[in-house]
Amino acid sequence: MSERIPAQVIETIDPRQPLRLTPAQAGGPIHTRSFSGRFRNLRLYGAGLLMLIFFGTAWLDWDGRQAVLWNLAEHRYYIFGATFWPQDFILLSALLIICAFGLFTITVFAGRVWCGYSCPQSVWTWMFMWVEKLTEGERHQRIKLDSAPWGPLKLLRRSAKHGLWLALSLLTALTFVGYFTPIRPLALELFSGELSGAALFWVLFFSAATYLNAGWLREKVCVYMCPYARFQGVMFDRDTLLVAYDAARGENRGPRKKEVDHKAAGLGDCIDCTMCVQVCPTGIDIRDGLQVDCIGCAACIDACDSIMDKMGYERGLIRYGSEREMQGGHTRLLRPRLLGYAAALLLMIGAFAWALQARSLVSLDVAKDRGMFRENPAGQIENVYRLKLINKTQHAQRYRLSLVDDPRFAMSLPGELKLAPGEILDVPVSVSLVREPLGRSPAELNFEVRNLDRPEQRQQAGSTFIAPSGR
Ligand code: SF4
Ligand code: SF4
Repeated sequence: MSERIPAQVIETIDPRQPLRLTPAQAGGPIHTRSFSGRFRNLRLYGAGLLMLIFFGTAWLDWDGRQAVLWNLAEHRYYIFGATFWPQDFILLSALLIICAFGLFTITVFAGRVWCGYSCPQSVWTWMFMWVEKLTEGERHQRIKLDSAPWGPLKLLRRSAKHGLWLALSLLTALTFVGYFTPIRPLALELFSGELSGAALFWVLFFSAATYLNAGWLREKVCVYMCPYARFQGVMFDRDTLLVAYDAARGENRGPRKKEVDHKAAGLGDCIDCTMCVQVCPTGIDIRDGLQVDCIGCAACIDACDSIMDKMGYERGLIRYGSEREMQGGHTRLLRPRLLGYAAALLLMIGAFAWALQARSLVSLDVAKDRGMFRENPAGQIENVYRLKLINKTQHAQRYRLSLVDDPRFAMSLPGELKLAPGEILDVPVSVSLVREPLGRSPAELNFEVRNLDRPEQRQQAGSTFIAPSGR
């Protein structure tokens, strides 16, 4: 993926050339130059790991079923050894809030690192750009191909590019949909042409979305469509680390011979080679200052560092720096705002972990039978209920139902109940008024379900008992 920057480029800039437009200003397709460097490597390995997790996890099994699966048909979400039910969705919502808060904290600390390194839009765009380079060549070859008339070679290269893009899009969509419907039968049906209905629609929909977003729209999604790009600016402060050009060091910019004492010639460290612009995936010039189009990918840092190395100058003309640092001060890493965000985040994670381990693995719901009350053969007033039990674990469990202590009532006990993993059981029970008078009607009563093997797993649910006045 790397392309060495030729040494002569440093000395072949024509100082008389007219002011150049950035690719973003020119408005055409952005063809980025290949480059190498530490931030590119960080992004490459980080994105590689994310891809491995995304594409690989869908195929993992756990206890004889797909390890991570949001089973829409069964209304439950499996994540390795844990099963989440619709009643647990508050926990999943809390997890999303924690993720959002984590994102805010990172943004306060280091600006748009999420966008540049791990946002799916960026990661898939980098992948599609790599395919583009593979099929159409380096930046100058792609620019040439754009303006070349259609012929067999152009047709071949374009077909190969779009074919690979479509294959990648299909694989992405299949994997994504495979987190919501079991992936093995899904893949089998897709490739045997038997997939139909909703699954086929969603695979085609996400394929089209991936192809369009990563292949065609690319930086336009970040610049014009992403709401996060719009409001994250308000989270920055003067100490937020952003990709920034050190204008005090770089200006006056201009070409020069390597051996020239540029400072004596009134020049700064920027040789105006435009490498930072050529590698930028959003086609901007970071030397124009902080821009909403900058996704913080640090490609320009790598490109500029390689130029500084060639010139024998110190690295970091473009670097992660805060506004305060660029104005001659020192970045305050530990500041109240950041510490406040971090503390709130830790608290939320702690509360979430506690709620997760305290979550009940058996669920009990009570529905009162429509009839008000009746008299049983023993002459007692009786109410009928339907108890709904859910074994939320992934193993068979034994349970017992009871009434929470109240001497007025007695319940027809169904005895020991054995529920398979994930089983939902409806149990009709009747409760009799064995000690009159009831008092105020309706009166409250509580049911309890207890796991016979793990007594700490118990759950209560309340309802009411109705009796005629005077009883
Ligand atoms: S900032 Fe660096 S990469 Fe950009 S034009 Fe100047 S020397 Fe070249
Ligand atoms: S200006 Fe630099 S950090 Fe910003 S998007 Fe362009 S290459 Fe990435």
